[in-house]
Amino acid sequence: MHEISLVQGLFHQLEKLARENNGDKIISVTMEIGPLSGIVIDSFRFGFDVLSADNDLIRGAELIIEVPPATYTCVQCGHKETTSDSRPDKCIKCGDLFLIPTGGEDLILNRIEME
Ligand SMILES: [Zn+2]
Repeated sequence: MHEISLVQGLFHQLEKLARENNGDKIISVTMEIGPLSGIVIDSFRFGFDVLSADNDLIRGAELIIEVPPATYTCVQCGHKETTSDSRPDKCIKCGDLFLIPTGGEDLILNRIEME
């Protein structure tokens, strides 16, 4: 499950930010996880819960996950569909099955709240 290593990377980032800002408790963390990032949000959340239980800085912090939209362009008619839901099965205009996704591939630390 590579989400665990992503959470570990996130924790390193949080620890560094807390040091730089003299924070000693993370209250909430807002992440943006693109629908095309390949990251399973439930696994990420699970990894966060498990690892934060052992981490004084992050224990009890709220994890907020935002899913930004991705755009799917139909190669047949050029119609663009923007959604943060899962990939559309086909073009809603012409029914073609070949859609090219853009955006929505990132894992971004958006905001943290600490005290
Ligand atoms: Zn189309």
